[in-house]
Amino acid sequence: MEIISWLEQNKEQFFKLSDQIWELAEPSFGEYESSELQASFLEDKGFDVKRGIAEIPTAFVASYGKGKPIIAILGEYDALPGLSQKAVPYKEPIEGKDYGHGCQHNLLGTAGVAAVVTLKEYMEKNGIKGTIRYYGCPAEEAGSGKTFMVKAGVFDDVDVSLCWHPGDMTGVWGMNVLAVYSVLFRFKGRAAHAAADPYHGRSALDAVELMNVGANYLREHIIPEARIHYVITKGGGQPNVVPPEAEVWYYVRAPKISQVDEIYQRLIKVAKGAALMTETEVEIIFLEGNSNLLMNRTLEKIIQNNLEKVGPPIFDDNDTDFARKIRKTISPEQLESSISFMAKLGWITEKQKEEFKQKLFFDMVAPHVPTDLALPGSTDVGDVSWVTPTSQFLITTQTLGTPGHSWQNVAQAGTTIGKKGMIQAAKVFVLTALELFTDQKKLEEVRKEFEEKIRNEPYKCPIPDGTKPKIKPRPVKK
Ligand SMILES: [Zn+2]
Repeated sequence: MEIISWLEQNKEQFFKLSDQIWELAEPSFGEYESSELQASFLEDKGFDVKRGIAEIPTAFVASYGKGKPIIAILGEYDALPGLSQKAVPYKEPIEGKDYGHGCQHNLLGTAGVAAVVTLKEYMEKNGIKGTIRYYGCPAEEAGSGKTFMVKAGVFDDVDVSLCWHPGDMTGVWGMNVLAVYSVLFRFKGRAAHAAADPYHGRSALDAVELMNVGANYLREHIIPEARIHYVITKGGGQPNVVPPEAEVWYYVRAPKISQVDEIYQRLIKVAKGAALMTETEVEIIFLEGNSNLLMNRTLEKIIQNNLEKVGPPIFDDNDTDFARKIRKTISPEQLESSISFMAKLGWITEKQKEEFKQKLFFDMVAPHVPTDLALPGSTDVGDVSWVTPTSQFLITTQTLGTPGHSWQNVAQAGTTIGKKGMIQAAKVFVLTALELFTDQKKLEEVRKEFEEKIRNEPYKCPIPDGTKPKIKPRPVKK
């Protein structure tokens, strides 16, 4: 198709943009330069850009076109701490740098940018009606940027949203994720000399410990798919002072947001009980929350069809050589767990497992396997899927077995292995958006599935009113 070859011929500018964001590697809610790079890039291409949407300085939306339908592509650009790494196939951090693109969000966001630029090119030439939007979504790794954006209503008029994630396989995401709440419990007691007059003290640390005991008893009486995990973030200063302040940070996860909420209400009772027992006070600080995904099987099928047309990325000798060196740093257990996950998804058969262990790359498009299983993890794409039909896919941007959030991930995101996958992702976006722009019946089918599901189970945003995103201050220019 002509438009796909246009994208191939013009890909260098997107390679460059991806590399710039890879080098910047900024933290969640601190992606000032990365978001500005994309926003001004799109502005230069003639997009109407609104910065600082949802009161988040690093969130923006870029639009082109007029009226309905409105098709949105979601992009991310935040990096991870402790993962500074050069684009080399051995572990070597970049001096003076802490963050690295360990989840390859430099590719994730730039594929969306490439797709909307390509779509604008085609829509202009061919007089296609409708609006294409790119949403610059900050803080996926920590902070739930999209959930705050959903709460602010920025997706309310969108007809369909599309999303992808870089990975070590290529296929449509047909599996759910767990919904999650992230909450701090801060206890306040009374300080005292722990030897001289402990009886005057009221230990906030006691309250944290008793709360944890209560939560651990609660585990037996919740659904087995749920997860409760915690860390003590403040436990006192030194043993001769009865701790006047202590704090514990909890995650509650379950397949459905309603189940998370039910467990959370019981956890609040545990916290209040601990405060009552210890004569302390508890303050509950809700940090963030993500819903599970509202799957849209109709949209998944459309994407699958386009993914098959586009195919997996084709790698050359340089890429293969790089991947072979990376593979040597990956343990057999890591490879095994990656391959087993593919089998669990139904993307390869049990029989194919041995064959795939020998491959450097996942070199096909996986079959579409819708499943009600939930991946034991969470994403803020979940909330978007409750306000607009949303589906996701994966494209190979790394050698098989590459662990998530690893230096190997960072390294490959800075090479042509990552960038070739990124361009394939952009192509899938382009074909899918065009199909939805031009085939009204298909768009209606996608919307119908969404509306039927949402009618049975209306959306409730997990973030309570008044909760603010944890924006990082803009770094001072040296
Ligand atoms: Zn990610």
